[in-house]
Amino acid sequence: MLISSDQLPLLEEPAPNTRPVDVLKRYYGYDRFRPMQEAIVQSVLDGRDTLVLMPTGGGKSVCFQIPALMRPGVCVVVSPLIALMKDQVEALLLNGIPAAYLNSTQSASEQRQIESEAASGRLKLLYVSPEKLVSESFYVFLKSVRISLFAVDEAHCISSWGHDFRPEYQQLSILKNYFPDVPVVALTATADKLTRQDIVAQLGLNDPAIFIASFNRPNLSLHVLPGTKRIQQMMRIMSQRPDHSGIVYCQSRKSTESLAAKLQENGYSAAFYHAGMDPNSRARVQEAFVRDDIKIMCATIAFGMGIDKSNVRWVMHYNMPKNLESFYQEIGRAGRDGLKADTYLFYSFADMMMWKDMLSENAPANLGVQLAKLERMQQYADAHCCRRQILLSYFSEELPEPCGNCDVCQNPRVMFDGTVLAQKALSAIVRLQEQVPMNTLIDVLRGSRSQTVMQNRYHLIKTYGAGSDLRFEDWRNYIQQLINIGVIEIAYDNHYALRRGILAESVLFQGRKIELIKPEEAAQKKQEQPKPKTKTETARDELFDRLKALRKRLADEQNVPPYVIFTDSTLEEMARQRPTTAAAFRSISGVGDRKLELFGKTFMEVIVSFMTGQAKEGSALRGSTQLLTLELYQKGYSLEEIAAERNLSTGTIAGHLGLLYQKGYDVDLESLVSTADRLEIERGLARVGVQNNQFKPVFEHLAGRYDYAKIRLVATLNGYTE
Ligand code: ADP
Ligand code: ZN
Repeated sequence: MLISSDQLPLLEEPAPNTRPVDVLKRYYGYDRFRPMQEAIVQSVLDGRDTLVLMPTGGGKSVCFQIPALMRPGVCVVVSPLIALMKDQVEALLLNGIPAAYLNSTQSASEQRQIESEAASGRLKLLYVSPEKLVSESFYVFLKSVRISLFAVDEAHCISSWGHDFRPEYQQLSILKNYFPDVPVVALTATADKLTRQDIVAQLGLNDPAIFIASFNRPNLSLHVLPGTKRIQQMMRIMSQRPDHSGIVYCQSRKSTESLAAKLQENGYSAAFYHAGMDPNSRARVQEAFVRDDIKIMCATIAFGMGIDKSNVRWVMHYNMPKNLESFYQEIGRAGRDGLKADTYLFYSFADMMMWKDMLSENAPANLGVQLAKLERMQQYADAHCCRRQILLSYFSEELPEPCGNCDVCQNPRVMFDGTVLAQKALSAIVRLQEQVPMNTLIDVLRGSRSQTVMQNRYHLIKTYGAGSDLRFEDWRNYIQQLINIGVIEIAYDNHYALRRGILAESVLFQGRKIELIKPEEAAQKKQEQPKPKTKTETARDELFDRLKALRKRLADEQNVPPYVIFTDSTLEEMARQRPTTAAAFRSISGVGDRKLELFGKTFMEVIVSFMTGQAKEGSALRGSTQLLTLELYQKGYSLEEIAAERNLSTGTIAGHLGLLYQKGYDVDLESLVSTADRLEIERGLARVGVQNNQFKPVFEHLAGRYDYAKIRLVATLNGYTE
């Protein structure tokens, strides 16, 4: 462990009037609570049993950690995974919060030592596995210490309805019997009603306060891509963000392995993970991923629950999951730090059929429910309106406006009259006596001379070749749409042969019009050219990379995952603000008292050395006086404020900004002068001109109405300065 027990941070009792938000700021370095966190903290502080439903990354931990810090005694946290416990405890210690965990990996003497620390009252949080919690000896121990609260993390594991059922969790029902006065807070990211009721009932929660946070994760983009040439599409996306961590979820163990091999061959840092591997190899690759040593994980759904990594920047689904619950949980592993993250789902009709086959073969008791869920998943993948609205409505939440951050919002669908296409397809289906599957139908429509066509003499039917003007891909797309709207149907009981759907008659004989959507031309779609970076952006990214490298080094030294030191969003803010004093460093979100003390100096050294290097590089900028001006400008200071802060005239500052502007830095000169002033000054400049950067003639021409600073700025904007 990072800090041996004799180095446990010492915690003072909070002063009587300390507010939860003060604790948040002091230990976590965050200025404010996220929606609902504060109310939850208050509920627990009031001693109420509390149930918290919040999406992954929503910030559940502080909901029980802050009450733990504010109530007397130790908070006992039940957590299902040993790996997760360790990371959480390490994160707490780095924030200066005395915490420890107990589990079967520790020796008896280690366990005794931790118990004695808990008994002494020094520990604020103690993480235990459910088995440990309900053991007889631990019960005796618990009775001897003061317990502030019980927190049951991943509480859905208690429910046999849920997808992660753990029998050990059911024994937790004894908690309320043995400790009726200790509040219990149960937390989960699984929202469905049955599970929720089950948690309350099984834990015996007493009139619990229930908090259901929004499940919307606006920082996650949602994309669905056609399920063709998946690997090429994937590599194109990956190559645009080589340094980012990401997960590719695959359906089978085998495909995780072959995909990882393929990616490695192409120079990507990739590994695979599935339940068929031995526990050691699994732990090893997971660790490497969490520590940023491996960037891409090709995994089955076995990968995830133990991953607290906050800087997963993208998640891809190589195959479509079988329901939206799994899908949402899996994409939820991206962007837990709140920064932008991308999600991609590859979807083809074949995936859909594969699931249908598999479900029908296994014939689970609730087959009907599962098929209905699969259908909702397909509706999401086929959607022609905002995908986030569909997703959230599935979780009984309403998003009033389209999100703007899904592929449908970004590329609105174009409709056209597809009646003739529908008629052609239907008439071919009829002539083929409703006996052929989609691929053969398309071959017939396109006039292909494939073996199946020739052997069955389909080339003799009347509609053969009636759709030869369209590509195979396009036909597939249209037929899928026709299936979705009920013009065509799939006979699952007849080898997936296509037959007439409920709307077929009216299309064929009653002139019913059918609207179809133009397929997205994946290849032709404008590849958005990234805007060239400004100098400021380039510098910021460079500093960010250096800070990341430092974070990685420190993390390795301390044997913790990098994001436990600082999250990506904290490093980004550092790279933007470039704090060089303790106070400025402390004001970065994610820097609490303890992290300032542990890491402030090292990180500031990198920032200062970066800035000095930059100043030298840009020696045309004469030392770094302009760069100091730039710093203040980037923090939003006005011209006058910069001048006051730097004890220089506004004219000099305007000169700095003008020079920075000319050098390509991101300075918005126009916003510094009003349009009216600008026009007036431009007129003066046009009359008098500027020679050798001398502004006096203009100043006098304008009768001193405008100061030198403004004249200089307008002159720079109009290219009068050198
Ligand atoms: P969950 O357990 O719900 O998946 P976490 O508790 O791990 O989520 O929190 C996710 C991330 O959000 C962590 O990096 C955490 O430090 C951060 N976080 C939590 N609360 C806040 C807050 N009020 N302001 C800023 N960041 C926060
Ligand atoms: Zn949208």
